[in-house]
Amino acid sequence: MGTSPDIALVARNQAEQLGAFLHDAGRKAPEKIRVWDETLRDGEQSPGVCFTAEDKLDIAKLLDGMGVAVIDAGFPMVSEEERRAITAIAREGLSAAVGATVRAVPADIDAALRCEVREVHMFLPTSGLHLRHKLGISAEDAISRAVAAVEHAKRHGLVVDFIAEDATRTPMEYLLRFYRAVIDAGADRVMLTDTVGVMSPEAMFRFSRMVMDALGKKAEFAVHCHNDFGLAVANTLAAVLAGATYPTVTVNGIGERAGNAAFEETVMGLEHLYGIRTGIATERLAELSLLVERRSGMFNQPHKPVVGFNAFRHESGIHVDGVLQHTGTYEPIQPEEVGCCRSFVLGKHSGRSLVTALLASRALTASEEQVRAIAEDVKLTKERSPRERIHRTAHERDAYHREVLGFPEEQFWQLVQRHLGNAA
Ligand code: MN
Repeated sequence: MGTSPDIALVARNQAEQLGAFLHDAGRKAPEKIRVWDETLRDGEQSPGVCFTAEDKLDIAKLLDGMGVAVIDAGFPMVSEEERRAITAIAREGLSAAVGATVRAVPADIDAALRCEVREVHMFLPTSGLHLRHKLGISAEDAISRAVAAVEHAKRHGLVVDFIAEDATRTPMEYLLRFYRAVIDAGADRVMLTDTVGVMSPEAMFRFSRMVMDALGKKAEFAVHCHNDFGLAVANTLAAVLAGATYPTVTVNGIGERAGNAAFEETVMGLEHLYGIRTGIATERLAELSLLVERRSGMFNQPHKPVVGFNAFRHESGIHVDGVLQHTGTYEPIQPEEVGCCRSFVLGKHSGRSLVTALLASRALTASEEQVRAIAEDVKLTKERSPRERIHRTAHERDAYHREVLGFPEEQFWQLVQRHLGNAA
């Protein structure tokens, strides 16, 4: 599998296109990148998701076992349970660097220190929109606040990743001044952050290259992209091509609004399309995806790339026939690479190949005419299948989203009454 001369030729053609692009852009793809997982922080910020300390530890252990380099364990200021979870992960002795997310204020950094992490993911917005309307501070105040916070963290021996929130909507001149200030203050890594997912891959490539060319080798670069236009993975890959070595991802792409760059898609894209080693045990991607689905309560769409229920299922007669002869015909990723299984599905688009293969699996033989008749019956059966189950599931799903991925309104007003008494 994957070894046929045709497949090797396709891979060579892809590599040639990419090589020509990088040559034109005056860039070399990084040889090695380090995966930074944000599932336990940004992923948990998906509306309605709430991991227990046990969930977080289980997920962190699997991430670590698969070769993740950096784990954001959470945001200490959120709750006592959150601090317990972060501390437990920090104490686990993982190979991955375990960090916590903090605002650029001493109280947050001190809380992270009490959770025993050695790394902080420190954020402060840089765009005028955020500084003016969210924090009400000037651009110059933001720089001094950031520098003071980095110095505070460095005095306590922490590795500091500085996240310039909303960086992609920040004027370049100011952004570079901001990055330089935090790097000079001791930040080890800075992040190219597309907080609201407004970049295109071309813009992200150019933006990342401008920042990295201006700042040179003074720091390492991480990239963080959101999926509001469905481009989080593409934009992340573009920044990596420009030289960012720490792509941040979340398992199944969960995260605020439309989510983040999906772990499994980013890793497979880097490995397959760019030939960049990630150090990730890809054969456990399906297991990781399932664990996060079950613990987050956010279930993947069937056609989710790489790990979706349909990612390696085939119904159409033409596709089934192709895959039965050579899996490379319609499968750019082989299911075993990611711990999934291939399957064939009977349905409206079924052809004779699958019917013949199923008969053969029971050592049955049939004439061509019989096979054709069976295939026709399969189509008719599917076309006449009742719809009630779809309607019922849609209903259940809507209720599930409201009730489980939300907070019951009635319960909120009961809480209010407990605090305000009859005034409520
Ligand atoms: Mn984010």
